[in-house]
Amino acid sequence: MTETVAAPARTNDRRLRERAERVIPGGMYGHLSARRLPETYPQFYASSEGCRVVDVDGREFVDVMCSFGPMILGYRHEKVEAAAAAQRRLGDTQPGPGPCMVELAELLVERVDHADWAMLAKNGSDATRLCLATARAVTGRRAVLAAEGAYHGWSSWCNPYVDGPATPADAEVHRYTYNDLASVRAAVEGAGAENVAAIFVSPFRHDAGYDQEMVDPAFAAGLRRLCDDIGALLVTDEVRAGFRLHHGSSWEPLGVTPDLSAWSKAIANGYPIAAALGSSRCAAGAERIFATGSFWYQAVPMAAAIATIHALADEDAIARMVAAGERLREGIEKQAVEHSIEVRQSGPVQMPALSFVEDTAFERAAVFCGEAAAHGAILHPRHNWFLSAAHTDEDIDRVLEATEAGFRAVRAAFGHG
Ligand code: PMP
Repeated sequence: MTETVAAPARTNDRRLRERAERVIPGGMYGHLSARRLPETYPQFYASSEGCRVVDVDGREFVDVMCSFGPMILGYRHEKVEAAAAAQRRLGDTQPGPGPCMVELAELLVERVDHADWAMLAKNGSDATRLCLATARAVTGRRAVLAAEGAYHGWSSWCNPYVDGPATPADAEVHRYTYNDLASVRAAVEGAGAENVAAIFVSPFRHDAGYDQEMVDPAFAAGLRRLCDDIGALLVTDEVRAGFRLHHGSSWEPLGVTPDLSAWSKAIANGYPIAAALGSSRCAAGAERIFATGSFWYQAVPMAAAIATIHALADEDAIARMVAAGERLREGIEKQAVEHSIEVRQSGPVQMPALSFVEDTAFERAAVFCGEAAAHGAILHPRHNWFLSAAHTDEDIDRVLEATEAGFRAVRAAFGHG
């Protein structure tokens, strides 16, 4: 008798994937990059509230990806939604911004130490590009330094894959190794110190596909000194980490102040907005650059951002994310030991990453996250996860039931070790 393999269920999710295939290049596996995700992972969502999401087949999950960062207070957070709704009743896309643009810029300047001004846009890539353009305008130089493997957006200046596989990124981008000051000095030498407009750096190393690395305070301080020595600007890319580590610029606790910083993701709890922030020495340069977008001045996301930034402080959001992250990290550590499976947990607890030893092809990670999804938790095999202020102990315990199933599946497929 031949064994029959059950065809994948004709779920709503699968039907949508098939329809997407016909009208979106590559369907969900093209630019949407879902190819590396386990099959059990939902790709279409029907609704979301707090830290719970429901997919198009009615399955509920605790979301530990927070939409890759934008959700920070919980989906449909009451105060943010009220502020957005109030603004929506008045207007959103209009011939110019609402008064909330000025209010938001004032609030960002108040919250972020190094900032004397803010320019608002939509996506993280806009914010990093604004910082680059500003740095070039301020210094009159072209070259940029960025860490090897760091992601600063989809623009071609920093991303070699924009125009097809591995086309060269901007020839004026010179790479260094995160936390290695000697490699930064070598990159400066390669570029010519007198040509360097900016050094880009993320608050900690959070490249997808690698264990995360906290910044060495001496590296951060060294970058600042080096920039001052050569007349370049220090740019921190806060797009992913911003407001999850600190209620201000992430390096404020280290006493290291950038000249420019790029923000997006979490600043409006999911509403589309980004900001480039700068010190007064960069204001004249920022004034001269050409940068605009049809939707950059929408009022609703600005109102949402104001409400989000106030709620982050009022609700002690960072402490809550840390508490949830610690509970998750401790729970996973315990499970890994019980299953005799060697894992590495890295990065800040509120933006955790998990990797398995001897898992260079991410096979164990895929089995783990696939099984966790089948048991109700959205995690990611290669990218860091995100906690939010909406994750309660009960939610984390629910996630831990899913990770327990994940470890069991890894052990069944790969054995111990
Ligand atoms: N910088 C960093 C550190 C990011 O994580 C991202 C997005 N993942 C970006 C820039 C680009 O942001 P966006 O996708 O909103 O353009």
